[in-house]
Amino acid sequence: MTAELLDLTPYGGVVADAAWRDEVRRLARERDAVLLAHNYQLPEIQDIADHTGDSLALSRIAAQSDASTIVFCGVHFMAETAKILSPDKTVLIPDARAGCSLADSITADELRAWKAEHPGAVVVSYVNTTAEVKAETDICCTSSNAVDVVASIPADREVLFLPDQFLGAHVKRVTGRENLHIWAGECHVHAGINGPELAERAAANPDADLYIHPECGCATSALYLAGEGIVPAEQVKILSTGDMVGQAKASKAKTVLVATEVGMLHQLRKAAPGVNFEAVNDRASCRYMKMITPAALLRGLRENADEVHVDPETARKARGAVQRMIEIGTPGGGE
Ligand code: SF4
Repeated sequence: MTAELLDLTPYGGVVADAAWRDEVRRLARERDAVLLAHNYQLPEIQDIADHTGDSLALSRIAAQSDASTIVFCGVHFMAETAKILSPDKTVLIPDARAGCSLADSITADELRAWKAEHPGAVVVSYVNTTAEVKAETDICCTSSNAVDVVASIPADREVLFLPDQFLGAHVKRVTGRENLHIWAGECHVHAGINGPELAERAAANPDADLYIHPECGCATSALYLAGEGIVPAEQVKILSTGDMVGQAKASKAKTVLVATEVGMLHQLRKAAPGVNFEAVNDRASCRYMKMITPAALLRGLRENADEVHVDPETARKARGAVQRMIEIGTPGGGE
């Protein structure tokens, strides 16, 4: 095992039984904490949370909550976004090593260098970015409103879109915008859900709906399959994780193939128990998301750890970009 993997060994040794649930609830009350869990968390973490959802919806809930402490069961950039929007609250993440390969695919220094090559360009960053990168950004976006955000920028202005190349390609295709430059970042989990796999699954399940997260490597293939009539266009739905839950509740389909991280299946099955949800790739599991184990949550509540800090000036600049995101297009969304 490499040093890096050893370093990421999650906290373990705790079973998510009734005693664990009672203790977590007791500690949360004692700390005046609200528990938030992202849709990709382990099922037991989702089930004990006060709220589940996508990254942006959870940050909004965090900002509106009366609780003085926010326990964010997700990855680090999400907890940072909650801190940016709620600077006066204590924000905890049960394991601060829970990073994100997509957020790590661009640093603030790299973004400053890219901006210098395109003076006057408008910077649009997907919400999966660090606070430092958000502070160098003009407008953040989610997968729900990325198209609206880019469409709101005057047509003659260059746009730098980062960090996800698949979401960028989706936005460029929909807006038809030639002056949109795309950073070549990707999430190792989403990129692993590929077109050939999707085509094979779609062919084997011709009546199934397809829910595709636009960060997926297969989003382009899904649109191609629809464009060629291989899968009827109305069966292909490009959705943020939050929108997937809404779509599931209204679904008339018997089977839905889901192309995103496998933790999403738990929420979808709860939202629509009569629908058969299947993963396009059942190996698409984010090891960072799964670092928030029952043991990590218990430790976090007991030790008031790991606290998330964002430098106030960085937070001030980043907040502007996040607030502009909230003002444009469909509310909710993100990963
Ligand atoms: S699934 Fe990908 S984008 Fe999401 S947190 Fe994990 S590494 Fe980041």
